[in-house]
Parts: sequence; C-alpha cells; structure tokens
Amino acid sequence: VPLLGAASIRPGELEISVDRPAAALEARSVSAWFGDRKVLDRIDLVMQPNRVTALIGPSGCGKSTFLRILNRMHELVPSAALAGEVLFDGIDVYDPELRVTDARKHIGMVFQKPNPFPAMSISENVLAGLALTGIKAKKSVKDDLVEECLTKAGLWNEVKDRLRQPGAGLSGGQQQRLCIARSLAVKPKVLLMDEPCSALDPTSTRVIEETMAELQREVTIVIVTHNMQQAQRVSDHCAFFLASAGTPGVIVEAGPTSKLFGNPEDQRTADYVQGRF
Ligand code: ADP
Ligand code: MG
Repeated sequence: VPLLGAASIRPGELEISVDRPAAALEARSVSAWFGDRKVLDRIDLVMQPNRVTALIGPSGCGKSTFLRILNRMHELVPSAALAGEVLFDGIDVYDPELRVTDARKHIGMVFQKPNPFPAMSISENVLAGLALTGIKAKKSVKDDLVEECLTKAGLWNEVKDRLRQPGAGLSGGQQQRLCIARSLAVKPKVLLMDEPCSALDPTSTRVIEETMAELQREVTIVIVTHNMQQAQRVSDHCAFFLASAGTPGVIVEAGPTSKLFGNPEDQRTADYVQGRF
C-alpha cells in the first residue's frame, strides 16, 4: 500500500493537484452497528477531491459515526462493528496491511469542541501530530511548518508573537483554528470536520469558513453541520442523512448543494433544508 505507507513526509511532499480525477474518498455500502443496534444502513457516498461535502440531517442519524468510519476512529469503540468499504483514492482504508496511524495521518479530523493539548504551547500543539505519527523533521523545517499551518488556519497573525504560550490560553475560535493547524501539519489529503463551528461565535465561524475555502485547494473536506446557511456557503455537495423512528440512518438524497437546497428530489429533503423538522 505505497501511498499510505510512506514512512516520513516532508512539508510540501504530499501536495495534491487541483485537477486530480479520482474520487478522494468513497463509501460503498457502509453499515455500522453499536452492539446489536444498527445505526447506519448501506451508505454510498463519493466525496470528490478538492471539494467540500456537507453532511446534514437531524441529531442521531449517524453523521458523526459515518465521519469516524472514514478515518477508522469508529473501531476505537469496543462495541462498534462495520460492513462495507471505504476507499481513499481507490485504496481500501480498512486494508489489514494498512497501519491505522497512516490512515488517520492522511484523513485528519477536527471535532466540535476545540481540543488543543492543554499542557502544550501553541507551536507544540501544531507539531503534535508529527510526533504521534512518527514523522521526524529538523527544527528549521518545523518552524516553517508551524508558520505555514497557522497561516493556513487563519491564526498566524494573532499568535506569531506568543508561540510558546499555552494553546489553552486562546479564545474558543482561536483554539479551533489551532486544532485545524494541528491537523494540517501532517499534510492530510482529507479533513473531516464534525460541527467545527457549532461551539463558536459568528466571527470565529466566519474566519473558519474563509479558511475552508482556501484549504479546499489542497484537501478534500467533509463537514457535518446543523447550520443550513453554512452548508450552503461552504459546500459543493451535500448528503442528507435521516434515521426515522428506530431505523438506522440512511442517505435520503445526495448531490450538488444548489440542487438539494434549490430543487430537491425528496420531500423530506425539502422539509429539512427549509427548517420544517
Ligand atoms: P449524529 O452525529 O448524526 O447526531 P451519531 O453518529 O452521533 O449521530 O449517532 C448515531 C446513533 O449511534 C445514535 O443513536 C447514537 O446514540 C448512537 N451512538 C453513537 N455513538 C455511540 C457509542 N459510542 N455507543 C453506542 N451508541 C452510539
Ligand atoms: Mg454528531
């Protein structure tokens, strides 16, 4: 599995071309269980390279579970089971020969609640993923990487004079951008974002949305959001998840964002995007 098996990555080495034809990430008939309870049923979804795909739908329909399946965090839950395939540029993310750390290195995750490592400084936070995934780099490379990632996350100007101060001292919105910078440091090709702005104020939300528009040039983004305006602002494609009364989550409709919001095929999609449930 050469693509995901790279032992070390230098900054810039994994830049991806904007017109790469292959799908970056594809779920094929993905079903998921916690114990006996089935929570996702045969999810098929192609997440196009260099595009933002938004996952929308009511709470409990399996959006977070689906995101965690994409980068193998689902298997951290002891009762969790899975069927189907996840392909990353055609490579099976669940290939037994693939190291989990490699899968997670290439498919990064940002969570709803900003979670910088509290005991680490701002720059140590950015570099934390390198140590975790065994990437070694010289100090000068690391310094450049800190600046590059904080710049991409829209935080550099605010923190460049206090890189050695604790990440926990930042505001919530700054902490979330620090987490984005941290996930970028290992040069992921996909960034999964689970309601990244729902704990943030409108100004921080706007900055992160602007950041995403830039990041899209180098990563494929999958974002879960409950904010329908945000889905329309940031995403190219949308998938509407729904789990009706005790049944597992399914995708009711997926397609271009303009289509789901402007001319949906399914009445349930129309009702959801217009805020009727
Ligand atoms: P969403 O993100 O759309 O709100 P989730 O993926 O968090 O939905 O949850 C989907 C279903 O799976 C829910 O019914 C939830 O209670 C259940 N679930 C999520 N995580 C776990 C877990 N660790 N153990 C058991 N059930 C879980
Ligand atoms: Mg969720």
